[in-house]
Amino acid sequence: MKILVLNAGSSSQKSCFYDLTENLSPEQPAKPLWEARVDWTHHQGFAKVEVETRQGRGWQEEIQTHSRPAIITHLLHTLTDEKNRVIEKLTEIDVVGHRVVHGGETYRESIPITATVKATIARLTALAPAHNPASLEGIEAIEAVLPTVPQVAVFDTAFHSHMPQAAALYPGPYEWFEQGIRRYGFHGISHQYCANRTAQILGKALPALKLITCHLGNGCSLAAISQGRSIDTTMGFTPLDGLMMGSRSGSVDPGILIHLLRQKTYTADQLDQMLNQASGLKGISGISSDMRQVSEAAATGNNRAKLALDMYIHRLRSGIGAMLTSLGGLDALVFTAGVGENSALIRAAACEAFAFLGLKLDAEKNQQRPIDQDIATTDSAIRVVVVHTQEDWAIAQECWKLMQT
Ligand code: AMP
Repeated sequence: MKILVLNAGSSSQKSCFYDLTENLSPEQPAKPLWEARVDWTHHQGFAKVEVETRQGRGWQEEIQTHSRPAIITHLLHTLTDEKNRVIEKLTEIDVVGHRVVHGGETYRESIPITATVKATIARLTALAPAHNPASLEGIEAIEAVLPTVPQVAVFDTAFHSHMPQAAALYPGPYEWFEQGIRRYGFHGISHQYCANRTAQILGKALPALKLITCHLGNGCSLAAISQGRSIDTTMGFTPLDGLMMGSRSGSVDPGILIHLLRQKTYTADQLDQMLNQASGLKGISGISSDMRQVSEAAATGNNRAKLALDMYIHRLRSGIGAMLTSLGGLDALVFTAGVGENSALIRAAACEAFAFLGLKLDAEKNQQRPIDQDIATTDSAIRVVVVHTQEDWAIAQECWKLMQT
């Protein structure tokens, strides 16, 4: 089965192409035959495009356009052009899977895209103004080129949609809940993939495991997973809630916002920019939202970088503690995404706080760039697993499953 995956960010577009006919067991992660990344943040008015094929061809180009549909059409062309010939014709594509950030309360699992599904995704734009329209543009760009190819929506909120109400509701007025103001949680595709992969790595059945998955990238969130389902998470109504992140604040006292609105007459857009782009590691360190740069500066004695790192670790430990109590036990602590997969320092600091539970990290394994590996000591009471998250592969798997039914 030939599957194209489109993963739309607010100012980015990732795409992967998989051929599952050559993959004997779709339970094992496969490498894409073709991968493309588009970034609109590098150069005003231009899209920076990077394409790589498994045959080893790779190139970069800049295209003067803001248009996502135009870029997607261009990317599709690179699949069949003479130089690459990943496939002969676009009609060979059996299904296209899309990451859709917000499925609201309507979608609790992946679903074939119909006119009704598109209308619902559009209606949910109010909850994900930067993301849902981007996914819709992708869906419509594919419809224009491949009108008969089935498309599937895979939602970032779906994995969290079975959270108990006690975890999902905010203690504001009950009307909030009636208006859809509740905790939805995000990074669900990644949390679910990492939970499944952890069960494979540990050779256990997922329903038998209590897991905390730590997705630590530019955005950061935790999920408490029991019986294969997310029962608690740190992100909320928006991806701004919870842990301290690269440039997002995570949870702050909402009274601060009331204070800033009253005393400093900030506008909603200014608050949005401050909390999403000028906070977190970047806001505190004054250096960068990138953990590598902040860690390097802290190591050379920069006090604000050191403070940013200490706060990040403090909030990560507090978050893990909160997930732990929701689970009432823990079999494995799982790290993933840019920081979780690459920063031995952050993993060690997080684990250190749970030594009192008998969690023992193997310091050597932790340092050796582990991928899809258990890095706890053999006598640790809790396993510690590093998983390379593969959202696009998880979306391809969802497409594969839906096309079997
Ligand atoms: P992601 O959103 O998953 O792509 O993660 C991006 C973030 O991962 C970057 O902003 C960095 O902060 C972090 N990162 C990537 N590589 C490393 C590394 N070697 N050490 C620490 N952090 C890293």
